[in-house]
Amino acid sequence: MHTKLYIDGDWLDSGDGRTFEVLDPSTEEVLAHVAEATPQDGLKALDAAVAAQAAWGKTAPRARAEILRKAFELVTARTEEFAALITSEMGKPLAESRAEVAYGAEFLRWFSEEAPRISGRFTTAPDGRNRLVTVKRPVGPCLFVTPWNFPLAMATRKIAPAIAAGCTMVLKPAELTPLTALLFAEVLTDAGLPAGVLNVITTTDPGAVTGPLLTDPRLRKLSFTGSTAVGRKLIAQSADQVLRVSMELGGNAPFLVFEDADLDAAADGAVLAKLRNGGEACVAANRFLVHGSVAEEFTAKLAARMKDYPLGPLIDARTRAKVTELVEDALDRGAELALGGAALEGRGFFFEATVLSGVPADARLLHEEIFGPVAPVVTFETEEEAVRIANSTEYGLVCFAYTRDLNRGLRLAESLETGMLGLNTGIVSNPAAPFGGVKHSGIGREGGAEGIEEYLETTYVALSDP
Ligand code: NAD
Repeated sequence: MHTKLYIDGDWLDSGDGRTFEVLDPSTEEVLAHVAEATPQDGLKALDAAVAAQAAWGKTAPRARAEILRKAFELVTARTEEFAALITSEMGKPLAESRAEVAYGAEFLRWFSEEAPRISGRFTTAPDGRNRLVTVKRPVGPCLFVTPWNFPLAMATRKIAPAIAAGCTMVLKPAELTPLTALLFAEVLTDAGLPAGVLNVITTTDPGAVTGPLLTDPRLRKLSFTGSTAVGRKLIAQSADQVLRVSMELGGNAPFLVFEDADLDAAADGAVLAKLRNGGEACVAANRFLVHGSVAEEFTAKLAARMKDYPLGPLIDARTRAKVTELVEDALDRGAELALGGAALEGRGFFFEATVLSGVPADARLLHEEIFGPVAPVVTFETEEEAVRIANSTEYGLVCFAYTRDLNRGLRLAESLETGMLGLNTGIVSNPAAPFGGVKHSGIGREGGAEGIEEYLETTYVALSDP
C-alpha cells in the first residue's frame, strides 16, 4: 500500500515527516498512516509538473494514447486490488467498487482514443478573403482536487484528458480516501508515464497546501470536484492568476415521475439514482417529485425495492449526523416515514435506507444535498408545477424524468435548468458523455468530446488572402 507523496517519480515522506490516519468507515479502524504534505511539498510537486511540461507537451499524441491504453489495461487487470482498496477506505460494497473501477478505467480508454483526434480548423473568413486557422495546444500544468466519494473515477476523469492533451499535473485527493489515488500513480508509472507528469500530494490541511499553488504564476489550470462551498472559495483564489477553472460541484437532483410513467421502471431507476454509492453521489436523486395520482403506488414500490438494497456505511460520523438531522427536521415538519429513518447501532457509520412521504416544501432536505440513502417524496399536479419545483434550487447538475411521452421528454430537456437529464433512466454517468452542471453545480464538462477541450488552449492564426 502506498502512503507516501509521489513527486517527480519518487515516493517521498513529507518535508516534516508527519503523517495522518485514514480510517475504514465500516469498522472505524485505522487503515494506514499517510504522508501529511507541507506547503513546501506542494510547491515541490508543482516544480516537478512545471519542469516536465515542455517535453511532455511535445510528445506525439499517439505516444500519450498508448500510455493511457496501457493504464486502462493495467487498472482493469488489477480490478480486485483497486476494488478492495476503494471499499476499505470509502466503504461502498465491493460490487459497487468494482463498478467504479470499470467506470474509472473507461476514462483512460476513452481519452486514449481522443488524444490522436485533437485538431484545429482551417476556414475561410466570411468576407471570402482571409483564411482563419486554429491550433490547439495543452493548457499547461494543472492542479486537481478531488472528493472522497469516487476515489478512482473522480481522479481518472481529470487525469486521463489531461494526459491526452499533453498537460502535467498535481493531484490532491481527498484526505478521507487518498490510498486509491496513490495506487493509481503506481499504475501510471508502470504504464510508462514519465516522471513529473503526475504528482500526488496528500494532506488534511488542503487550503494551506493548495493556496500557494493557486497564486503561483506557473500553474495554468485548476480542476476541482467537490462541494459548492469549497468550489466557490477556489474560484475566488483562482482569480489572482486568472486561472482556467473546471468545477464539478454539488447537486440537488429532482427525480420526476409523471402520471404516464411505467412505475416499475421508474422505481427500478429510482433505486439506482438514489442508492448507488449509498446516496453519496453528486448525481444522487435528492427529491422525488411524483404526480399526485401515482404517488402512493410509486412510494410503495420504491420503499419495497430500497428495503433490500445492499448498503455500505456513510463516509464518517459527521455525514451520518447530518443525514440524521435532515431526516429529523423533515419528520418534525410533518413528513411521514415509509421506510427506515435511523442510524444503525454498532461500529461503522451505517444509516438505514429511508423513504419519507408527504414532505413539506420547507423541509431542509429538499434544499440541501442529503448525501445519504434518504428519499423524500413530494407530489405535483401539472408539468409546469413539476418543472417549477425542479428548478427551484441553486443547483443544476442532473434531473431524472420518467414519462412515456417523448414530446414531454423533449420539452423537459429545454425547460429544466440542468447540465444533464436522465430520461427514463436512473444513471447518466458515461465516460463518452459530457458530465457537468449549470448554475451553482459548476463550470465545464468532464468526459465526452468536450472533456479534452478543458485541457486545450486555442491559438488563432490569421492568414492573408492567398
Ligand atoms: P469537499 O468540497 O469538502 O472536498 C472536496 C475536496 O476539496 C477534497 O479533496 C478536500 O480536501 C478539498 N478541500 C476542502 N477544502 C479545501 C480548501 N479550502 N482548499 C483546497 N481544497 C479543499 O467535498 P467532499 O465532501 O469531499 O465531496 C462531496 C461533495 O462533492 C458534494 O457536494 C458532491 O456533490 C460533490 N461532488 C461533485 C461531483 C460532480 O461531478 N459534480 C462529483 C462528486 C462529488
